[in-house]
Amino acid sequence: MAPKDSSYTVQGTSLSRGRAYGLALRFDEDAHVLEPERLLENESRTDALDRLHTAFERTREQLKEIMTHGSERFEDVIELVFQAHLLMLEDELFGGRIRQLATEGSIPERAVTDTIEELASSIAEKEHKLTAEKAEDVRDLGYRLLVNLAPQPPTRTFVAAKIVLLEHVFPSELLRLAIDGAAGIVLVDVSVTAHLSILSHSLGVPVLAASWESVRNIHDGMPLLLDGDSGRLEILPNTDAVDISGSRVEAPGQDVSIPAGERPGELRSDQDSTHVGAPVKVLASVNILADALAALDSADGIGLYRSEFPFIIRKGLLDEQTQYHIYRHIVSMFSGREVTLRTADIGGDKILEGESAESNPFLGVRGIRFSLANRPMFREQLRAMLRAGDGADLRIMLPMVSTVEDVLEARTELNRCLAELAEARTPHNSEPKLGAMIEIPSAAVGAEEIAAETDFLSIGMNDLVMYMLAVDRTNARLTNHYRTHHPVIVRTVAAIADSAKNAAIPFSICGEAAADPLLLPLYVGLGARAVSVAPEQLTDVRRDLASLDVTACRGLAEKARVARTVQEMDAVLSTMDLREAGRVGTK
Ligand code: PEP
Ligand code: MG
Repeated sequence: MAPKDSSYTVQGTSLSRGRAYGLALRFDEDAHVLEPERLLENESRTDALDRLHTAFERTREQLKEIMTHGSERFEDVIELVFQAHLLMLEDELFGGRIRQLATEGSIPERAVTDTIEELASSIAEKEHKLTAEKAEDVRDLGYRLLVNLAPQPPTRTFVAAKIVLLEHVFPSELLRLAIDGAAGIVLVDVSVTAHLSILSHSLGVPVLAASWESVRNIHDGMPLLLDGDSGRLEILPNTDAVDISGSRVEAPGQDVSIPAGERPGELRSDQDSTHVGAPVKVLASVNILADALAALDSADGIGLYRSEFPFIIRKGLLDEQTQYHIYRHIVSMFSGREVTLRTADIGGDKILEGESAESNPFLGVRGIRFSLANRPMFREQLRAMLRAGDGADLRIMLPMVSTVEDVLEARTELNRCLAELAEARTPHNSEPKLGAMIEIPSAAVGAEEIAAETDFLSIGMNDLVMYMLAVDRTNARLTNHYRTHHPVIVRTVAAIADSAKNAAIPFSICGEAAADPLLLPLYVGLGARAVSVAPEQLTDVRRDLASLDVTACRGLAEKARVARTVQEMDAVLSTMDLREAGRVGTK
């Protein structure tokens, strides 16, 4: 067992880079709830009701403060999360019930905790992952109220500058912790879904997944050093070796602007003008506004906007106008540059309220299937995208296309929305490009027909590898089987590239492999027009591309097409491997 009073280190899995120093805060359902009975002493009923009234006031003020002065980076999320909290505070079922119990004689803390439990368990009874997330919202707001019931509540949020350890987590909760100023986050025994992992990258806070066993001896207030780069958590670190002047040791790479002369197409003075510098666009993959801001100075545009995130954060469908505002904000930030909005990839591990759980969700109603099964919602989203894209270089991309029929049906819906907007004289983009993600084996085999019906293809490597090799992308036990550079995968990507070429349309690569320095030369050699990568990878990828000899990349691609085993592929790719010490290309 790990020692309790001397420094030791545990190894976890890094989900978001950066290093942070802070005091531990274990954040689970029962922790930190103030002992109700203790606070009852010497308090009259009138005083208790006054205290409750003040706690409501403080909570309301805090929520409004976050909404009006919260970080610009999280504007979209703040609106989606805290607006719901504000409404819940005033709701009869929440605020009303707490007041009722307190008036009937419960002490305020008991009224809050009982209401949380009543509401959370009635929600959880529905046995749905998403409703369970709403139960977390109830607990989260309830906890804020409890903290505010203290006669002198902390002036800073309770998670500020702390390294928070969580045993249950939902996407919106992760965001709340980042917004509330947590220095770092440790997910304890949490099954990390694909989208939890993707979202972690967007937080600007180091995040680590660790086993319960490895962190069992960590208690509140223990100093911790979280290294999201190496995936290590140091408990009781030797503070002489650490700069602890601020809680944050080092923010994850947000500064991604790069010197002129190192952009694709631009040549450094020492480069041979005939060969060097791949003419490949470096686009950003964006989940929330914070990513778009981080990418603004250095991306050639947005290659993938995962439009399901607002739905996931709000835990339900959004109306056209709300979607329009979110998309418009992002599109106008990138004015003059291409912006690819992907229609919602709902389903899989991202189910919305009211949707029935499926026994095999990754083979279920996911992505474009969900949209085509929910036409009114799909049309609202398409209209919001078309309106937001007025005057912009707008591309609309369909996720999880399995066959050309999906594209044809989606095209019909798009044309219908275009006609409606034109008829109503609503300003919109009347000539959006329509593209398909190729991330399912059947779409890879049918890429020829799909290419003939679209304006561009984007290969979603995360899912393509998962479905081709039948390897769950979130299963840590299968990491060795998840081989992005397997000859079968490389031949598939090459065949998709050929289909795009035959149809005279461009293709791009997205997913984590798009930033892999081992694979970039291959993708360039196969003729990719663009790669779409996470904001913190833009600088490295751009630099890698600028160093590439396109003719050599083509030669490499020809050899890679005929490699038969992983070993043969390794031998081919290693001749142009761009990996170097410290380069984290495959995060
Ligand atoms: C992919 O599958 O590679 C992709 C980019 O989509 P997502 O990760 O959102 O499923
Ligand atoms: Mg995908």
